[in-house]
Amino acid sequence: MRMKKIIVTIDGPAGAGKSTTARHVAERLGYLYIDSGAMYRAITLAALRKGTPLDDTALGELASECEIHMEPTFEGQRVFLNREDVTVAIRESSVTSNVSQVSAFPKVRWALVQRQRGLGLNGGVVMDGRDIGSVVFPHAEVKVFLVADTDERIRRRLAEAQERGEQIDADHVRQQIIGRDKLDSERQESPLVKPEGATEIDTTSLTIEDQVERILELVRGYQKTYELVSLFTNL
Ligand code: C5P
Repeated sequence: MRMKKIIVTIDGPAGAGKSTTARHVAERLGYLYIDSGAMYRAITLAALRKGTPLDDTALGELASECEIHMEPTFEGQRVFLNREDVTVAIRESSVTSNVSQVSAFPKVRWALVQRQRGLGLNGGVVMDGRDIGSVVFPHAEVKVFLVADTDERIRRRLAEAQERGEQIDADHVRQQIIGRDKLDSERQESPLVKPEGATEIDTTSLTIEDQVERILELVRGYQKTYELVSLFTNL
């Protein structure tokens, strides 16, 4: 079968299962997985450390200057900020509490969207985030929008924190999730929306394997159509 290296976008709110699903889908396809949220988290960490004022110009400059590098490993993706490994630091609560504010600034988004588009130039990429199918790659071949009940999303976040050995309060996680949902969906610039042409998958009672399989099915469907069209048009 004639296979095209495509772009798969996975958007949705926090805790909907995007990163784990996206990582597995990328592995199965032999594609690169890019967690765009990690980029916004890295800029937020840099801003908190430097005490950068929360304004568009200052944060935009910081976002353009910072070097962000991501490396896939067997244990997951490692994230580097100006060559320092910040994989753990970007998940700290202070970053989570501020990232939605930082990522709402247009110049921050502009700087990161350019880099994200560059990473997808040759296809063969699975990228997850909030605006990947709507703004970063509106012409992506396969677009997915993951959703899940709020209680289930909170439960997943608590379980993740527990796994990392963190002591966090359930009410605090609830507030963070609800607060981020609100900021991410109501911001002016690239709000969280279901992208046009995206397939919505409710993951509340699905296993990761179910989610991965559904997305691979969409990819296979696309490849089949592509093969047929190529055959007829002799591409
Ligand atoms: O995916 P994750 O929850 O780590 O993303 C952290 C934050 O980064 C989100 O709450 C959102 O504010 C921001 N983000 C974004 N656009 C993306 C990815 C993440 O605004 N494409």
